[in-house]
Amino acid sequence: MKPVLLNDFKTQWKQVKTQFLQAVERVGESGYLILGPEVKSFEEELAKFWGLKYAVGCANGLDAIEIGLRVLGIQPGQKVLTTPLSAFATTLAILKAGGIPVFCDTDKSGLINLDIAEDYFKQNKDVKLFLPVHLYGQSLNLKHLKKLKDQFNLLIIEDCAQSIAANSDGQMCGDVGQLAATSFYPTKNLGCYGDGGALLTNLDDINELSRSLRDYGQSEKYVHSYLGLNSRLDELQAAVLRSALLPNLNKWTESRKSIASVYLENINNSQIELPKIPHNNYPVWHLFPIKVKDKNKRQSFINFLKENGIQTGIHYPILIPDQPLFKQQKNLNYEIFGTLNEAKSLCETEVSLPIHPFLTKDELDKVISVCNAW
Ligand SMILES: *Cc1c(COP(=O)(O)O)cnc(C)c1O
Repeated sequence: MKPVLLNDFKTQWKQVKTQFLQAVERVGESGYLILGPEVKSFEEELAKFWGLKYAVGCANGLDAIEIGLRVLGIQPGQKVLTTPLSAFATTLAILKAGGIPVFCDTDKSGLINLDIAEDYFKQNKDVKLFLPVHLYGQSLNLKHLKKLKDQFNLLIIEDCAQSIAANSDGQMCGDVGQLAATSFYPTKNLGCYGDGGALLTNLDDINELSRSLRDYGQSEKYVHSYLGLNSRLDELQAAVLRSALLPNLNKWTESRKSIASVYLENINNSQIELPKIPHNNYPVWHLFPIKVKDKNKRQSFINFLKENGIQTGIHYPILIPDQPLFKQQKNLNYEIFGTLNEAKSLCETEVSLPIHPFLTKDELDKVISVCNAW
C-alpha cells in the first residue's frame, strides 16, 4: 500500500496540470521571461489576497527576509531579536545581512514568547529590529505584537513563510510589521514548482526600496544606488502561482483546517499532547505539530508510524543556536536572552503528522487509528 505522505506533489499535479500548462504557454508566447507582466499581475493578486498594498516577488523566502532587513536599514553588528525554533533561513538572513541574532524562548506552542520579547526590549532600548516567526501555520497574537511595536518603536519583519492567511483576532498575520516575508518553497501552503518568495508591505518607500534591492540595487536602469541582490521571482513561477496555485489556496487551506479538526477530535492517546490553539486564533495548519510527552519515546512513536506506512517530520530537531555552524565559525556572533527551555523541549518532543490538503478520508482514519494504537 502507498504510504501516507507528508506532502503529495503527484496528486497536486493532477489538480493543477491544465492551468499550469496554460500558464507556461502564456509565458512562452509573451516573450517576457524576467520581471514581466506575470510577476506584476501575481504581485497585485497576492497583495489583494493578503489585504496589503504591495507584494514584491523575490527568488526565495531567505532572500525576502534578507532584503527586508536591508530595507529596514540593518547595519553590520546590529542585533535582531528572533526565535531559536524555526527554519534555519530565518537566522541565516540575519547573518547574511551582517546582523547578530538574539534568541529568546518560545511559548508551549512553539511561537516566540512575546512576554519575554517585551522584557528584552525593555532592558535593551537600543535594539529595534525584531524578526518574529508565525510558526507551523499559527499566527502570533497580533495585538500584543502591535503593542510592542508601538511601545518600543520597533522595526519588524514578520516571517510568514509557514502562515500565509493565518489569522489572529480577525487580522491577517503580516499586518503589523513594516514588512511581511513569505516563501513559495514547494512544501509551503502556497508552494510553487521550484523556489520563490515575496515581501509584502503597506508602505510606499519600503515597496520601492524592496524592488530596487531584489534587482541589483538599481534605482533606474544601469544606475546602482544600493547594495542589492539578484533575487527576482521568475516569470514562469509567477505565472504558475497566479493561474494554477493562488486560486486554489483558500480551498487547500480549508482542507488543512478540516483535517486538523478531525485530528483534534479523534486522536486520544494519553502519551500524546495535541496542539492547543488560543481563542480567536485561526491557524492555517502548515504543519500539525504534536508532542510525545516522554521525550525518550519519541523515536519509538516515529518508528511505529513508519512501520504502519505513515511519514512524519520533526520541526525542528536542533535549536538554531546549537547548529554546528556557530561552533565552526567563531566569528559568527549570537546572543541568548534568558533560557530556551520551551524551545528545547519542542526540539525533543515534537512530531509533525501529515496534513497536506490531498489526504484522503482513508489516510486520515489510518493516521488516527495508528496514533491511538501506539
Ligand atoms: C521555508 C522558510 C523560510 C525560507 O524560505 P525559502 O524559500 O526556503 O528560502 C524562512 N522562514 C521559515 C519560517 C520557513 O518555513
